[in-house]
Amino acid sequence: MSTSRGTVLISGASIAGPALAYWLHRHGFAVTVVEKASAPRGGGYPIDVRGTAVAVASRMGILSRLQEAHIDSQRLTFLDADGGEVASVRPHALAGSVEGRDLEVARGDLTAILYAVVRDDVEFLFDDSIDSLDQSEHGVDIAFRSGDQRTFDLVVGADGMHSRTRGILFGPETRFHRYLGYCFAVCTMPNILGLSRELMLWNTPGKAAALYATGENDDELHAFLNVHRPEPPLDGLGNRDAQADWIAEAFAGAGWKVPDIIDAMREADDLFSDTVGQIRMPTWSDGRVALVGDAAYAPSFLTGQGSSLALVGAYMLAHSLAANRNHTEAFAAYERDTRAFVAANQALVDHGSAGLFPTTARALEERNTRLRNLVTMPAPPTRPAYAALTLPEPR
Ligand SMILES: Cc1cc2nc3c(=O)[nH]c(=O)nc-3n(C[C@H](O)[C@H](O)[C@H](O)COP(=O)(O)OP(=O)(O)OC[C@H]3O[C@@H](n4cnc5c(N)ncnc54)[C@H](O)[C@@H]3O)c2cc1C
Repeated sequence: MSTSRGTVLISGASIAGPALAYWLHRHGFAVTVVEKASAPRGGGYPIDVRGTAVAVASRMGILSRLQEAHIDSQRLTFLDADGGEVASVRPHALAGSVEGRDLEVARGDLTAILYAVVRDDVEFLFDDSIDSLDQSEHGVDIAFRSGDQRTFDLVVGADGMHSRTRGILFGPETRFHRYLGYCFAVCTMPNILGLSRELMLWNTPGKAAALYATGENDDELHAFLNVHRPEPPLDGLGNRDAQADWIAEAFAGAGWKVPDIIDAMREADDLFSDTVGQIRMPTWSDGRVALVGDAAYAPSFLTGQGSSLALVGAYMLAHSLAANRNHTEAFAAYERDTRAFVAANQALVDHGSAGLFPTTARALEERNTRLRNLVTMPAPPTRPAYAALTLPEPR
């Protein structure tokens, strides 16, 4: 492993972390990734890789693997309170994705593909995390939770929306969290509808439930529940049992397959539940420590751009570190060259992406009318924000 460019510790081995590790290694840095889980975490709802992020995947040499993992959904059917069909559309028509170029893959597949391309070149420390960090002009002293102590030239937090690295450096999440008015939960469950490569979305005002078959005649469905809550829960969503309880309470009496989904969530070993929100920070670095991906600029699933921002942000941060004389200039260049792209994608929530989850009866009826019209109209153009950054050439 070359150490000519210095040592970097990355916290988090999901999307942003391994992507950054890949590029930093290619630029000659010695990289260590610390992940609190015991292995790269699978699970989660399928995610999109679009626009500029497809170019990053291509430059990493993983495009063909992502294309093989592409879900290629054929149909998205909207249902009313009783489970009756409102409209059925091609999914990419709604998302503004480019059919044949943009990709949708299981989150765990993307994590596994990224891990596979770096695991032999980078040191991974699983089951551990940063306990404290202390930076000076010479480096960053890290005390790990395991008790180990090491010093790195730079540290990057790629530890997600609730980043501990951000918390240590910049203070509580509430300073940067923009709550978007919903809480959601996802898990997998048996394919009780016999669906194949299609998604069904049930709505009543302020509530949504979806069942998504990502494969051809798979035994498994991705279940999703989303509920409007004007104020965020005061102490987060709590532990597993508390999460199952708020879901059951919020959806009590709901029709269609919602009772089955609630039962499945109580039993699931892959329940993932969170508030819907964004992270917006005035700066993404402090001294020798920077943030990337959801830790710095989570856009929320309403934009469908979390993984794409993570991939593009990782590329841009690594490029800036390789192209500049020192980390101060590099972190400034990373922000200067990436911020407009992040802002454009975070702003997607202000331009109707939340329209999939109307909170009033009137808004729901208006949405349904738009959907019925969409069936007879040409697909809307792709969203410019997805490709609003031209990657600098790799160095
Ligand atoms: C298991 C899982 C399921 C998800 N499911 C969904 C979903 O269904 N829908 C959706 O919209 N988004 C989901 N996400 C979030 C989605 O992956 C991100 O929005 C996006 O891909 C950006 O990736 P990221 O690498 O910046 O952050 P994340 O994907 O959130 O990854 C952060 C990583 O850091 C690790 N980590 C956290 N804290 C520490 C710590 N203190 N020390 C060390 N490691 C730490 C986490 O275990 C994780 O591996 C999920 C994330 C995870 C981890």
